Amino acid sequence: MAALMDPTQALAAPATPVPILTYHNIGKVPQGATHPGLYLALDKFRAQLALLARHGYRGVSMDEGLPFLRGERKGRVAIITFDDGYLDNLELALPALREHGFSATCYLVAERIGGFNAWDSELLRVRKPLMDLPRIREWLDGGMKIGSHTLTHPRLTRIDPTQMRHEIAGSKAALEDRLGMAVDHFCFPYGDHDRACVAAAAAAGYATAVTNERGRVRRGRNLLALPRVGSGRRSSQLFRARMLLWGL
Ligand SMILES: [Zn+2]
Repeated sequence: MAALMDPTQALAAPATPVPILTYHNIGKVPQGATHPGLYLALDKFRAQLALLARHGYRGVSMDEGLPFLRGERKGRVAIITFDDGYLDNLELALPALREHGFSATCYLVAERIGGFNAWDSELLRVRKPLMDLPRIREWLDGGMKIGSHTLTHPRLTRIDPTQMRHEIAGSKAALEDRLGMAVDHFCFPYGDHDRACVAAAAAAGYATAVTNERGRVRRGRNLLALPRVGSGRRSSQLFRARMLLWGL
């Protein structure tokens, strides 16, 4: 008897390893802010996009990248992701992405839309504005995509399992309701996840979920626990080296 396919075991099968790039804020590091690695200056971001383009990579959203992850399409793509939904993604990153005809996926915190990074503002000593609903529509109208990054940005393995499932499934429902569109992609806050979280993402109906594990997506990777490539301020040299030496 053929076993039913376990949705938690949908596996990637790319023809060549696919990089998923991670970004947070684009722009200058605010005065007094800790964790400068969460920021990438606009000129450096633009240089990374130009480098991708020069080496034949197309920067795509998770929606557009999914057939490449599944091995249904072949080609040089880099999936571009932004965590948290910062306003600077719209104001600074979007025009730069459009110059190259690239797209990207921004993971939104459903109950913090129009607010600020309440989950780490004290630690980082800075309140960073998040896109509100009209700005998110501008992001979408500009050819960009969105995904879910939970309701409130908790560490999912440290909260009650019922609450964990609600953060994962409830944020999908909330975003779909407010934006009137399907939300098929998820990002684990802090990359924090375990088997139960992956199962919850599958049960909620997500097609993909990304972590903070480092690496490109190779054949056999679980689509609901995908690794990503860092692209922050401190790793610009590394980014360039990777591009030149290994084809990212
Ligand atoms: Zn986050």
